[in-house]
Amino acid sequence: MDNCVKKVLFDEETLQLKIKELGAKITKDYEGKDLLVVCILKGAVMFVTDLVKRIDLPLQMDFMAVSSYGNATESSGIVRILKDLNEEICGKDILIVEDIIDTGLTLSYLIDILKSRNPNSVEICALLDKPDNRKSDLKIRYTGFQVADEFVVGYGLDFAEKYRNVPYIFVLKEEVYMK
Ligand code: 5GP
Repeated sequence: MDNCVKKVLFDEETLQLKIKELGAKITKDYEGKDLLVVCILKGAVMFVTDLVKRIDLPLQMDFMAVSSYGNATESSGIVRILKDLNEEICGKDILIVEDIIDTGLTLSYLIDILKSRNPNSVEICALLDKPDNRKSDLKIRYTGFQVADEFVVGYGLDFAEKYRNVPYIFVLKEEVYMK
């Protein structure tokens, strides 16, 4: 792996410390509520599994898949639901867990869909936020880290479906894109 890494942004320890902090905040905020954690596949899968272990509440989990980037490194603006929720969300408190928010177009679209199903509330928890490129007015209740406008991978985030398994978040070397 070392020959692919340009720079490590967040190592395992840094990620886990932040996730513990987010989990404690969410636990406090959702006490007594009917919490349904919605993981956006595939990028948020590592994050959600670590996060829910740090939320000390009897929550439910569900998964949704949408297409946003394909194999390119820039947003297409086209959003399609590939897998919908299994659970009913009417009356529940929904926490969408996302890997990274860039333009915000993916989540704006998703939030509109979920709100039309009459949940009690819908909030966002994103591990990474790239605010420079925002194209929608999105309110992110919980954010792990802000990142600059560069393409990052690892800990669930991919380039052409690879590097999701790497336990830290990093920037790829340019040579990797050229291959
Ligand atoms: P948005 O709709 O906010 O522009 O795009 C969000 C989605 O784009 C994320 O869920 C993720 O799949 C993808 N994405 C945005 N920036 C990056 C990045 O730096 N690295 C990777 N691997 N995916 C990204």
